[in-house]
Amino acid sequence: MSRSWWDRMWVIQECVLPDSAAIYFGAFKVQFAMFSLAALALVQHSAACCATTFHSLSEKEKDLLDHFSKAIMDIAMLASNLRTGA
Ligand SMILES: [Zn+2]
Repeated sequence: MSRSWWDRMWVIQECVLPDSAAIYFGAFKVQFAMFSLAALALVQHSAACCATTFHSLSEKEKDLLDHFSKAIMDIAMLASNLRTGA
């Protein structure tokens, strides 16, 4: 249980195996594909047009966003590889 939520095997399994996964948080529902796009946008913007803003965040905030984007992109890559047989 020391692993973060996005690193837990059942979370990865529930995101990777279905053709379309959704994330529920209270009354909100978001498709995993949208999370994947958000993670990609975070990486791209934090290295380019929004770099100044990103670097003004605390180390803890940057670590959290880095971990979020890496975990989501890793899961998305795993799902893509599973579908393409890569
Ligand atoms: Zn930007």
